[in-house]
Amino acid sequence: MDLKALYRISYGLYVISSRKKGKLNGQIANTLFQLTSEPPTVAVSINKENLTHQFIDESRVFAASILSENTPLKFIGHFGFKSGREIDKLIAVNYKIGKTKAPVILDNTLAYLEAEVIKKIDVGTHTIFIGKVVEVENIKEGIPMTYAYYHEVKQGKAPKTAPTYIKEEPKKRGRDKYRCTVCGYVYDPEKGDPDSGIKPGTSFEELPDDWICPICGAGKEEFEKET
Ligand code: FE
Repeated sequence: MDLKALYRISYGLYVISSRKKGKLNGQIANTLFQLTSEPPTVAVSINKENLTHQFIDESRVFAASILSENTPLKFIGHFGFKSGREIDKLIAVNYKIGKTKAPVILDNTLAYLEAEVIKKIDVGTHTIFIGKVVEVENIKEGIPMTYAYYHEVKQGKAPKTAPTYIKEEPKKRGRDKYRCTVCGYVYDPEKGDPDSGIKPGTSFEELPDDWICPICGAGKEEFEKET
């Protein structure tokens, strides 16, 4: 089976956040969707290994921030490739405490919703949390980020814990591309890294020594030449 066919399913990109007593956390998810309008309910699929899973499971509430198309890779990497067990992910971002007391991430957010879990479904590696929407707000105008845009235009990657993760076979590519061994991001000299001010046409060798992976923050030494 060529599971890449499943890449053609459309999704958005969201920060799903929750709390556990006084602790707050959030993560990136692409699998959020509305189930019904009367009453408004949504579902989200979260990996059981993620800290946010533990928080939602315990507090029975979550918030979802709908990200804009121009969200920097670094922001997505911060929520998508780091664990709240190691860092306080909310320290460097703007958020507010919502109606459910879950943190609502406001940076790069077009709109958000808050939900109370009414049902959960065990689907093996993940749990699908079904929530009744209890609060929504439009923050600003803009085009929401789609998962396809993230992969194709932003060259973003999925962590192994994503429900839609597919292991990529190493490909024969130009010898000047370098792959991050931490998250799988590929630095392509033709594209550069515009989010970090690196112009297209900059070779990997020419990158400043303090340049870091735009997705996971790993240093240049974590990169390997693609063969
Ligand atoms: Fe990386």
